[in-house]
Amino acid sequence: MEKFDEYQVIKERLKGAIEYLDQTRPGLIDFLAAPKKSIVVNFPVQMDDGSVRVFQGYRVVHNRANGPGKGGIRYHPQLSSQEVASLAALMTWKCALINVPFGGAKGGVCCDTKSLSQNELRRITRRFISELGDDIGPHTDVPAPDLYTNERTMAWIYDTYDIMHPGRNNRPVVTGKPIDLGGSEGRRAATAQGCLYAVQRFLQRIAIPGLAALEDSRIAIQGYGNVGANAARLFHQSGAVIVAISDSQGGIFCKTGLNLDEVDKHKRQQGTVVGLPETMSITNNDLLQLDCDIVIPAATSNQIHADNAAAVRAKLVVEAGNAPVTPEANAILTRKGIYVLPDILVNAGGVTASYFEWVQNIENEQWTLAEINQKLKNRMNHAVDAVVAKWQMLQEKVDAAGEKAKSDNDDPATNTIVDLHTSALVVALERLLITIEERGIWP
Ligand code: GLU
Repeated sequence: MEKFDEYQVIKERLKGAIEYLDQTRPGLIDFLAAPKKSIVVNFPVQMDDGSVRVFQGYRVVHNRANGPGKGGIRYHPQLSSQEVASLAALMTWKCALINVPFGGAKGGVCCDTKSLSQNELRRITRRFISELGDDIGPHTDVPAPDLYTNERTMAWIYDTYDIMHPGRNNRPVVTGKPIDLGGSEGRRAATAQGCLYAVQRFLQRIAIPGLAALEDSRIAIQGYGNVGANAARLFHQSGAVIVAISDSQGGIFCKTGLNLDEVDKHKRQQGTVVGLPETMSITNNDLLQLDCDIVIPAATSNQIHADNAAAVRAKLVVEAGNAPVTPEANAILTRKGIYVLPDILVNAGGVTASYFEWVQNIENEQWTLAEINQKLKNRMNHAVDAVVAKWQMLQEKVDAAGEKAKSDNDDPATNTIVDLHTSALVVALERLLITIEERGIWP
């Protein structure tokens, strides 16, 4: 059984990409492999019933070569420092790939938001941010929303930091805020919007048999949080048929397409999509293996792994969540001819809109939704083009080397297939290595 040591996955992804990098000083790769700074805090919170509970929180800055640390804060009962560190590394790569002047960071608190009241969540958030103190800041490390945190959480973060640092513009300390507090138009839907732009661009660039465009394509979406729910709506508006959706309690399937208004209503009333009338109940694993054109895992990591990857039947897997496909599964899917659009590319829309929010906050400006989406589209298109170009270039290089080995040694060519995951990471690492070399190693 494939092991899911979260940081090991990062190391494996890194190892896969390093072999395609031109000569580089090995120490620089070591620098990119390990997180720069990891903080663990344990803090007490008074609960509504008067009892006191201790919570554990984390903040990891993985790298700051390109700018302040940037990345979400997630609240989850199974959160570990390993997972936070791995998500911070993904942020470093994502920011480099989408070309925003940020490094990578991530944080979170180990807690189950479903069993906590709003008042308890507010106290947890304020206490956590006060524990982090000056480890976050508008020009050092800038948090944002992630799983089970939202605009309200970001408002508390801003307010807490602002009270602790009076007398200056603190709005850029956190992104994903409510619009009235300096949040940006389009930020809430930006991850899904960026994902849509990336998929549309990819389908324009690469001819996938039976999947020329999104119109009438059948899509299954795993996860119905901010990313999954917005992706369902946006892909549907672009002509796709959403045949299946799931959340942490299970999934629903309807061959002719789900009615998204009904799904939303049911989720609001019942707290889950499961049980929507006139749909078939399926498991999260069934959803990933459905006979459809595109699968979008938009939930937690390691969902497509060595044990279920061979059963995936979609033509395209779109990693809207972070690390939903393990390295071994990625290799299996690639060998099967299934394209995997990597997380650091397709879910970079969220941090891109966060960057727009940060710039607006620094300039005290408010851009329109049309401006935001146009800028987002340009960046997503550029990033997709860069990954596709790198992928084609690496494949040609590998093929030429294989042919040469064959004629030199009379060995059969090895037929190495370069995948999109690796290509995206090569683009990101090359950019990071240039920055690090140009800055020089201090002192
Ligand atoms: N949490 C999001 C991510 O994983 C967004 C991070 C940000 O906006 O800083 O990409």
